[in-house]
This record gives sequence, structure tokens and C-alpha cells, in this order.
Amino acid sequence: MLLIDSHCHLDDPRFDPDRARVLARARKAGVVAMVVPGIVRDDWPRLRATCHADPGLHPAYGLHPMFLDRHQGDDLEELERWLLREPAVAVGECGLDFHIQDPRPDEQRALFEAQVALAVRLDLPLIVHARKALDAVLQILRRHPGCRGVLHSFSGSPEQARQALGLGFLFGFGGAVTHDRATRLHRLVTALPPTALLLETDAPYQPDAGIRGQRNEPARLAAILEAVAALRGEPAGTIARATTENACDLFGLTPPAR
Ligand SMILES: [Zn+2]
Repeated sequence: MLLIDSHCHLDDPRFDPDRARVLARARKAGVVAMVVPGIVRDDWPRLRATCHADPGLHPAYGLHPMFLDRHQGDDLEELERWLLREPAVAVGECGLDFHIQDPRPDEQRALFEAQVALAVRLDLPLIVHARKALDAVLQILRRHPGCRGVLHSFSGSPEQARQALGLGFLFGFGGAVTHDRATRLHRLVTALPPTALLLETDAPYQPDAGIRGQRNEPARLAAILEAVAALRGEPAGTIARATTENACDLFGLTPPAR
């Protein structure tokens, strides 16, 4: 089975001691490609270097809403210059997070909306982070016809999912689906069409139920695949094929050879 981790932070320093082994375990688990989103401008060069070093790693660049204090005046302009110069599969990670302390919603909205507009201009998909802010995210996306992308680590209501589907967005599911008590999330995973699903680990964050409290890594995508397949009552191979195809379509990746 060939899988794509649509969201993992492989450039994170927590992988510095053993990145090659982490990648080897990912491949052994069938993870043939990984999308690595950017968070803050200062880290983009490190992210680029990490992805250059391995043909299975694909960078995205963006300004994450949880790091407002680390973004500066001309970061948006620099993001555009950077994306015009550097190969990238998406704009992100960007979005809205009203769960953080001192969320400064207006500042977040402006930062996010500029990145949505940039993605449309450059014809790139978006990797969207939305926490306690999905309605505000959908409102901004609706203002930008032609925008496309993924709502990563999705955990919205059925109505929000319906609206996001209507906008043509995909849904990234990760470790949270493996938790027994996530019944609301389980119902969503079951209800969405297979064309709207992506798998992600969000490594090193969001460990699944099998590795609670530990550093997450892309090899764990196999556990997420099993959980999604079980919830939907479909063979794992079917989900693997669908999600890999969806990721290739969205991010413009070459489909892996079987
Ligand atoms: Zn992330």
C-alpha cells in the first residue's frame, strides 16, 4: 500500500537526531511521500533544506496563526517572493486559531486572508489550520473564488463539513480518529465522500492512541489508515488508493509507481 502523509513537520528539530531512520520507517510503512508545511519565515530555509535532501518530501510555505509574535511586517511580501522562486506544493500552514491565548482575531484574519489571496494568485492549494475558528475560516474562503486546499486535522460540525465540501476543500484526518471517544469525529469520517479524504500524522504532534504522549512520526500513518478504514467499513487498500490519489491531485504530486 502506498500512502502519502499530507501533513507532517519533518523539519522540526525533534527529528534532528534520527531523521534518516524516521524516513526509513515511513517508507517501510508504505509512506512514499510527505507534505511538510511551513510555520514561520525564519524556518523556511531549514524546511527547504530538509525537503531538498529527500525526494519524497514536498515543502509548503506559510505563516501559521499560532505564531503571531514571530511574524513581522514584510513576511507576507517575502512569502510571495519566496514562493515565486522556490518550488512548493501549497501555501501553508495558515489559518485561524482562536483557541490560543491572546488570539488577536483581526490580525489573524488579515494574515490568513492575504495568504488565501496569494494562493489563488499563484494557483496553489492551501493547507489550513482552523481551531475554534472554522466559521471564520469558511467565511474568508468563501470570499476567494478559486481557492482550494485541505482543512488539516479537521474537527468541525457536519454543517461546517458540508460547507467546506461545497467550497471544494478536502479534509485531513490524523491521530484523533484513533481515539475511541472521538465519536463525533468518527461520524464525520464515515459520512464524507472518499474523494474528500486525506491522511496526515501532523508529526511530531498529535500522536495516535497507540503511541500516546510520544513523538509522532509519519510511519504511524498506517495506524490512521487502519482506523479510517475500520470506521468506514472499507478495505484499507481502498482508502489508501483514494487518499493517495487525492493528495497527488491536490498537491500536484506524481502518482507513485505501484
Ligand atoms: Zn501542522
